[in-house]
Amino acid sequence: MNSYIKEVIDATAAKNPGQPEFMQTVTEVLTSLEPLVEKNEKLYRENAILERMVEPERQIMFRVPWTDDQGKPHVNRGYRIQFNSAIGPYKGGLRFQKDVNLSIIKFLGFEQVFKNSLTSLPMGGGKGGSDFDPVGKSDAEVMRFCQSFMTELYRHIGPNLDVPAGDMGVGGREIGYLFGQYKRIRNQYENGVLTGKGLSFGGSLIRPEATGYGATYFLTNVLSYLGKNIKGMTFAISGFGNVAWGATEKITELGGKVLTLSGPDGYVYIPNGIKKEEIPYMLEMQASHKNIVKMFADKFGYEFVPGKKPWGNVKADIYMPCARQNEILIEDAEATVKMGGVQILNEVSNMPTTNEAVAYLQQHGIIVCPSKAVNAGGVAVSGLEMSQNSERLAWSKEEVDEKLKGIMANIFKQIIDALQAAGIKENNFVQGANLAGFKKVADAMIAQGLV
Ligand code: GLU
Repeated sequence: MNSYIKEVIDATAAKNPGQPEFMQTVTEVLTSLEPLVEKNEKLYRENAILERMVEPERQIMFRVPWTDDQGKPHVNRGYRIQFNSAIGPYKGGLRFQKDVNLSIIKFLGFEQVFKNSLTSLPMGGGKGGSDFDPVGKSDAEVMRFCQSFMTELYRHIGPNLDVPAGDMGVGGREIGYLFGQYKRIRNQYENGVLTGKGLSFGGSLIRPEATGYGATYFLTNVLSYLGKNIKGMTFAISGFGNVAWGATEKITELGGKVLTLSGPDGYVYIPNGIKKEEIPYMLEMQASHKNIVKMFADKFGYEFVPGKKPWGNVKADIYMPCARQNEILIEDAEATVKMGGVQILNEVSNMPTTNEAVAYLQQHGIIVCPSKAVNAGGVAVSGLEMSQNSERLAWSKEEVDEKLKGIMANIFKQIIDALQAAGIKENNFVQGANLAGFKKVADAMIAQGLV
């Protein structure tokens, strides 16, 4: 390994004990940058590029007190990591989930920097959230929590400073409550401060579908590059949330067959592929906030496999994890290879596969499309929402969808170009995405001096 890369990985590990997810992504990204770092080592060292890339510009942690419907007080922890603003204001979602911690928010923030760079839109990288567990909470409890969270967060964000959005546990309802409180405190109608808003107050058409649609558009680019077609291809999807829903809708529309959905409770097996008319039920399941996928199996009479994930258990041409980080472990990768039949892993959730599992799958001929590229459609349409808010205009569904398609095609092109520039012959899209996303941010940082 290049000595500069090794020094920075070691120093980052020493400085950030107890942050396994953050170290996982730092190690994955930095080691894949070898061709670029070898070529530019002197320049990068002089500008402390790698040292600055792994150190967030600002890290905010705060107390979030709120009362439940019985009047009992609770205290959660809020986070906002403003990772890198070299190419635009900090941009990235908020995750409300019970196991959120500093390591998880930092890993997400770090990945966001490169993902946002790949979209070609002027957005820096940031991420935030809380260990608040939305499962089983009433609307009123969620509202009080969001108001308390924003009462601290408002002073750190703004349309030209930092623009949060949704992520796991944060959807349209939460964004509405967060925006209402921001507007109240600031006494200004700055709707460009958050994205993923409702259509009546500055939201963009296609934003709810964008991550899943974008992931499917990215895949269609990969497939045509490989001389294949999505029609008739089978898919195993995990999750049933917003991202899984958008992907399922687009895949089905384009003639693919979605054989599975999953939840924390297990997975549903749909032997002939989900039917178009069954897809809207995913939204009802989400709105119930119960977080169980068995509801789908019960409703339509499909087999439910409790406590298991589809990986290595279900044969499909394409695997599309849409649930959470580290859901495909080495044992799942081994079972997948042993079972055979899987051609492509199209990662939709952020970092769904461990570094070891990615390497194993690649060694065994499975093409891995990295989440940084695949799921960038979500934040890309957030960027388009910011443009519409600045213009005080709303674009049509067709206009946003066309732009999204163009952005996803351009991301794939950047990956291919980066691999060519580095002289890499194999279809290592993981490396290509890191090289392309990183280079633009590094160039901007060098141009802006040591800040
Ligand atoms: N949370 C999403 C992501 O991981 C969307 C972020 C955004 O729209 O700002 O990219």
